Amino acid sequence: MTESLTVDIAILGGGMAGFAAAVTARRAGKDVALICQSPGATALSSGCVDFAPASSEGATIAASVETLAAARPAHPFAVIASERARAVHAAVELLGREFPFLAGGADGRPLLLATPMGAVRDAAMAQKTIALGDLQLLRGARIGVVALAGVQALEARLVASLLDESLASRGGSATLLTVPLFVQRSDAQLLSSDFAADVERPGRAAEWGRAIGLAARQCGATHALISTVGLVDPVSTLEVLTQGAGVRCFEQMSGPPSVPGLRLQRAIDARLSEIGVRVISGVATAAISGDTVQAIQLGSGERVNARAFVLASGKFLSGGITREATFQETVFGLPVHVPGARGTWIGDLLDRDPAGEHAALAAGVATDSMLRPLDADGAVRFPNLFAAGAILAGSGATRDQSGLGLAAATGWLAAQGAMAFA
Ligand SMILES: Cc1cc2nc3c(=O)[nH]c(=O)nc-3n(C[C@H](O)[C@H](O)[C@H](O)COP(=O)(O)OP(=O)(O)OC[C@H]3O[C@@H](n4cnc5c(N)ncnc54)[C@H](O)[C@@H]3O)c2cc1C
Repeated sequence: MTESLTVDIAILGGGMAGFAAAVTARRAGKDVALICQSPGATALSSGCVDFAPASSEGATIAASVETLAAARPAHPFAVIASERARAVHAAVELLGREFPFLAGGADGRPLLLATPMGAVRDAAMAQKTIALGDLQLLRGARIGVVALAGVQALEARLVASLLDESLASRGGSATLLTVPLFVQRSDAQLLSSDFAADVERPGRAAEWGRAIGLAARQCGATHALISTVGLVDPVSTLEVLTQGAGVRCFEQMSGPPSVPGLRLQRAIDARLSEIGVRVISGVATAAISGDTVQAIQLGSGERVNARAFVLASGKFLSGGITREATFQETVFGLPVHVPGARGTWIGDLLDRDPAGEHAALAAGVATDSMLRPLDADGAVRFPNLFAAGAILAGSGATRDQSGLGLAAATGWLAAQGAMAFA
């Protein structure tokens, strides 16, 4: 039997973009369903929230977004020009309200943080346990990078050495803190999620703290940078670590798989259920449409009918876009646009230089300024469909540092369009 659900607004995608759309519409009193097959890029993110690279030292989020939009005319922040300031403002407000564990820099300035590779970069916001490591507040500090075991210990060595170089111009330094916590041969196989689970075992954070403190005193470190402070209650765990160590500890921005990314996704999932969004776990396989979209069809046979829809299914990682001979948007059959492409062969879409532009990374759905997807000849495809987040053409978090902030801003704006229609 085919089951059917009818709501005001149906959202495809449970990452940051789908969340921002869902929370906006739900808090405005709409009946909202959100369809999600699995965690996507949001759950892999590093623990920071980026809108745009800082346009100058101390630039506000709004100013940096303006600079990004001016430099990249195909970027979604350029496409939504008339709504951009409102959307960015709303996204900052939404992130602060829904995720009290996020912090920005003092006076709205960007944070300056060590990356998982030991470079230094700005971020608009970060989870508080990471934001404590704002290097602008740590001038003159000697940061001990904690080496636990296996790959993490190798990475810690690299981070310590690169961070030491990066901090030299700021009057600071970094050093490796080798702590004898994981000394069994099999410990070399441990992953960040294993370390996260370990530090949350009863009494273990204090034990970690004492070992870190001992190593810090031997190396003269004034602070300790730790790869993870746990999945469940990072703030309390960090306090226990700091007390045990006797030096201020903070958490490292993470590469994938990312414990802070998982924490963010868990917070998203919890908030969706708290506010009464109907979350449907399943794979959307097709849209049922005429002049407008009427429903999303799931692989289970279930159908979700709505007056308006938000497409927030992400890019390649999450399955929003796939590529066989060409790129495909997987549910609504929308054309996929690749700004800056020199051709359609994959070799034309990727740069030889690994740090190059890689047009393929900006592949996505083209929209008008209200985020309504366009068909191949530039006309609005469906008046009641809005797109948000990484699926938008011209976006590419690794190219333009606008990941979760863009997702929140466009999720908010897509919800405005969907609510007006619904
Ligand atoms: C390794 C990594 C690190 C990153 N670090 C940062 C960072 O430090 N700061 C930052 O701002 N950004 C970062 N980003 C970028 C950021 O994570 C993304 O830009 C952002 O999460 C995109 O959110 P989204 O909601 O658009 O997509 P996603 O989070 O990918 O969500 C897409 C959702 O759509 C669902 N979906 C797709 N197709 C279907 C279907 N057919 N049926 C049902 N559900 C479907 C998926 O299950 C998923 O829930 C990083 C990305 C990666 C990969």
